[in-house]
Amino acid sequence: MDAPGRFPDGSPNSPLPEHTLALRSSGAQLEEAFTDSYILFNETTRKYMEAYKQLEEQFEYLNVKLEETNRELRNSLAEKDRVSNHLNNILESMSGGVLVVNLEGEITMFNRAAESITGLTQAQVLGLPYSQALGGHEIPDASVLQTLESGKSLANREKELIRADGRSIPLGFSTSPVRDNDGNLLGAVEIFNDLTEVKRLEAELQRVHTLAALGEMAATVAHEIRNPLGGIAGFAALLERDLEVQDPRRRLVHKITEGVSRLNRIVTSLLTYTRPLKLNMHAVELVTVIEESAAFLEIDLLRGRDDVTIVRSYPEQSPVCSVDPEQFQQVILNLLQNATQAMPEGGIVRIEVSQRDGGEGALLCIRDHGMGMTEEVLEKLFTPFFTTKEDGTGLGLVTSKKIIDAHGGEIRVESQPGTGTSFFVSIP
Ligand code: ADP
Ligand code: MG
Repeated sequence: MDAPGRFPDGSPNSPLPEHTLALRSSGAQLEEAFTDSYILFNETTRKYMEAYKQLEEQFEYLNVKLEETNRELRNSLAEKDRVSNHLNNILESMSGGVLVVNLEGEITMFNRAAESITGLTQAQVLGLPYSQALGGHEIPDASVLQTLESGKSLANREKELIRADGRSIPLGFSTSPVRDNDGNLLGAVEIFNDLTEVKRLEAELQRVHTLAALGEMAATVAHEIRNPLGGIAGFAALLERDLEVQDPRRRLVHKITEGVSRLNRIVTSLLTYTRPLKLNMHAVELVTVIEESAAFLEIDLLRGRDDVTIVRSYPEQSPVCSVDPEQFQQVILNLLQNATQAMPEGGIVRIEVSQRDGGEGALLCIRDHGMGMTEEVLEKLFTPFFTTKEDGTGLGLVTSKKIIDAHGGEIRVESQPGTGTSFFVSIP
């Protein structure tokens, strides 16, 4: 287009005809001017075009840049969403309760664990002042509100919390102020845990320690008592021999012998309980082991307790278990004796044996319909020396449990006052 000597329409710059010669000189000037302005026009156009092109390129560049920024923004928003979701998920799946209050002391966050620990729902507490939602039962000098006021954390404290259902639980908690990047206080957070189970384990451990010490002492004492006891029994026997059959003092000597044999029983069971267990395992038919204990008891019953009958319910084929037969007989005898003693008016003691469903091993059940047990008795059942009987040792069940535990078995009890008791023993 900008080739020299050509009009914009592209027609050739042909020579002028003869009759216009007179005008030639002025025409030539005109043409020159025209050509000049044409060149100028062309030049300007070219510049404009260039500028336009530059603008277009710039626009394109800005567009790309904008697109890029948009994409980055979208990504960062999605990332922010993801992070916030992630944090939320973490908070919700934490086993510890998490609670956040704002500067006004109103609860702004309350995770799932907080709900289950306090028994309150998010809907109940969000937006509510902390002191109103939870503070009613707070120890006033130790709470998230104190942290809000002082800006100082509280670490590893304990307090009592009254749950929504009125139950009081021990609570372990820590608080911290919540600040933004510039250090301005935004609120405070409290993290808390239900310590019920921890406290229970602590108490249990304490009990085990006490029992161990007690057992050790008892074993020593029992040993010391045994020898003089043997002496007393021996001398009483000599004395009895020296007295005439109709001598009234024989009755007194007899009392001594009775007392000594009772003491001896206590000392023996104490030693059985405290002595470390050594199992002498054999594969035996469970029913055979049980029958030997039952025979023992039946001999006993013949002497004065003929109001008690044993009823058996055995499977056609006895389960075979690997046990220490002697120790196991002791367990069964203990349970049978307890059952008999629970029915002072007599009755039926049931022995049931079954294959443990869905697995190896057997289940033994000894039932009576005697006096049963209260919650209080049930709670202390396996505590050494716990007895409700005048001449009980309180060692029968703990010794039985110790033997069953050593076999890898389990003992369980169901009992209702006035209805009766069932002891279940599972044997691997
Ligand atoms: P002891 O028989 O010497 O009292 P145990 O350890 O055998 O000691 O039993 C502890 C306590 O458990 C008993 O004193 C009794 O109160 C309760 N008990 C055990 N078995 C039964 C039962 N079958 N029915 C009712 N109470 C029972
Ligand atoms: Mg007993």
